[in-house]
Amino acid sequence: MDIPVVEKTVYAPITEEESILLAVSEGCSYGKCKFCDFANDPYKVFPLEWIRENAKYLAKESGDNPYLFLLGQNSLSLPTAHLLNVLKIVYEFFPQVNHIGMYARAKDVNIKSDHELSLLRDCGVKALYIGLESGSDEVLSLMNKGTSSSEFLEACKKLDMLGISYHLTIIGGLGGKNLSNTHMEKTAEILNKINPASIWQLKLFIWPNTPLAEMRDTGEFTELTPLEVLQEERELLSRLKVENCVFMDTTVLNKYSLIGFLPESQSSLLETIDRLIEEEIQQT
Ligand code: SF4
Repeated sequence: MDIPVVEKTVYAPITEEESILLAVSEGCSYGKCKFCDFANDPYKVFPLEWIRENAKYLAKESGDNPYLFLLGQNSLSLPTAHLLNVLKIVYEFFPQVNHIGMYARAKDVNIKSDHELSLLRDCGVKALYIGLESGSDEVLSLMNKGTSSSEFLEACKKLDMLGISYHLTIIGGLGGKNLSNTHMEKTAEILNKINPASIWQLKLFIWPNTPLAEMRDTGEFTELTPLEVLQEERELLSRLKVENCVFMDTTVLNKYSLIGFLPESQSSLLETIDRLIEEEIQQT
């Protein structure tokens, strides 16, 4: 069998860049979020034989790397039996692996029973990467995220209980001008009720040919300026009361990255943001 070719750019979280990257699916099984350009891509699940051939190929260069990431925009949506078969392949070719991560939607977590999630955890699934994007139901519904804040809470509590860590992304400016305040308040509120291992804030990027691009063009959505996004982020960060959590933003004013451990680095992160806000105001 030919080695499977993953046609699109490979997307993995920044913290998994050094992991062995094994493709199990491509695109997203939901694909309806208005801001997301993956929504334009067809969703594909790779057959086990393809995954096996790919694993055989990757094993030649994996050395003693214990980290592996299952590529695909929400691989947890695959049936548990299928995922367990994938994990058998993983251990056949990468016996040294002891930490497996993948992307998931909150709904993918909720739909699986505690027993199914425990089986996956016991087979090495230790980290899920979930797009929270916003804690505001108004914003989630405007963006057609397909998941409510209470469903996010339910998923995160379940993962806390089962000892599976989760890493969340949030999108700065996702509420636009009209909902910026509620986006910031409700996002901080939900983050303070859960225990994320990391929070990665990304500034909203409006991709061409997405429903959000159309909303912007018709005036239904007004984008924040980079300075306004940073001011929103400052407010959010000042409200966070999370423990043992990495906070990062690789899109600050479209040119800087911020990273720190919460709560220890909270004040220094805020000071840096204040300085950047001050500089930005002076330049405009
Ligand atoms: S769930 Fe994630 S990958 Fe899927 S459409 Fe929404 S933002 Fe895109």
